[in-house]
Amino acid sequence: MELNIIKEKINNIEKELTALNEYILNNPELGNQEFKASEAHTDLLGSYDFEIERPYLNMETAFKAEYDSGKLGPTIAYLAEYDALPGIGHGCGHNILGTVSTGAGIVLKELIDDIGGKVIVFGTPAEESYAGKVEMANQNAFADVDAAMLVHPSSDHFKSGKSLALKAIKFTYRGKTSHASASPEEGINALDAAINTFNNINAMREHLRKDARIHGIISNGGEAANIVPDLAAANFYIRAETKSYLNQLEEKLINSAKGASLAAGTELENSYYETPCLNLITNQKLSETYISNIKKLGVKEVYDNDEATGSTDAGDVSHVCPTIQPYFAISENELTGHSREFRDATKSEYAYQEMKKAIGALVLTAVDIIKKPELLKEIKEEFANRYK
Ligand SMILES: [Zn+2]
Ligand SMILES: [Zn+2]
Repeated sequence: MELNIIKEKINNIEKELTALNEYILNNPELGNQEFKASEAHTDLLGSYDFEIERPYLNMETAFKAEYDSGKLGPTIAYLAEYDALPGIGHGCGHNILGTVSTGAGIVLKELIDDIGGKVIVFGTPAEESYAGKVEMANQNAFADVDAAMLVHPSSDHFKSGKSLALKAIKFTYRGKTSHASASPEEGINALDAAINTFNNINAMREHLRKDARIHGIISNGGEAANIVPDLAAANFYIRAETKSYLNQLEEKLINSAKGASLAAGTELENSYYETPCLNLITNQKLSETYISNIKKLGVKEVYDNDEATGSTDAGDVSHVCPTIQPYFAISENELTGHSREFRDATKSEYAYQEMKKAIGALVLTAVDIIKKPELLKEIKEEFANRYK
């Protein structure tokens, strides 16, 4: 029976997977510097006959690992992440996230010689700054992919949901210095423009949709209290559930800054300081298939996840091919993301037990897509109607 064969194949590579997971956990690397992690993944995938491209698309720590059965069939992509956070290392658990994707790739590879199709594990760097997958999507890396999947660690098993589209906008205000006490009338206060931008935005909040998020900091507010600041800067993130509302928010934000700058008499410049990313559109048919499969592996409840709270660069993938990003449990206790407790849970016995279920569900879902052309047809039809 297929399920038992898959379970056995996962058990056969469990030692290699936990070694990969713990090596990356113990060697945390920030986004776009994940040299050890990307090499460890491709070493393992290469040892299972995957064809490796690394660096990939001019990204030093990205990779593409492909195995083609040589028989016609769909292309399944598993997305691996492996970047860490400053200070707390793998507080988002991308060590185990990537391990699940590589594990699923290896197990599926062992099956497709019989059933056909192609499997690709993409190594996607710098998720925390929303970079790798955006660049890959923009460079058509997923053009031939029929289904893309990744599973994020969490406190429990959750369905693939939504994420917020995001832009990171920086305003720079230029004024004129003068002695703040002796000749204040000669100065043009750039800090005033920054502060007024925040006030304009705060007044606007009452009239925004519930999904809108605007949060910012003053990254430069002057040098000394007795000098009228001639330079100030503020960094903002804006987020929304759709690309079109995000664009409306961007216009409102820029108008807030323009008004503030005009009032203060400064010159205004705006720029993006991080890669923008799009909202995640879960392919529901693909998601249902994954849920029914993880239940076959013994997960009793997969919880709803309807509210979009954060952002992820997997969003950009979901605009170019059918995509899911569900969550799997790494602890029986409630965990906060981006914490030391979260990081430590990624090497627990419980995490490994649930990791194997997540891998099994990813593989079973791929097998379903390969074996049932009607299912793939439905997934693709839903994808074609994703903006409706
Ligand atoms: Zn994460
Ligand atoms: Zn994170």
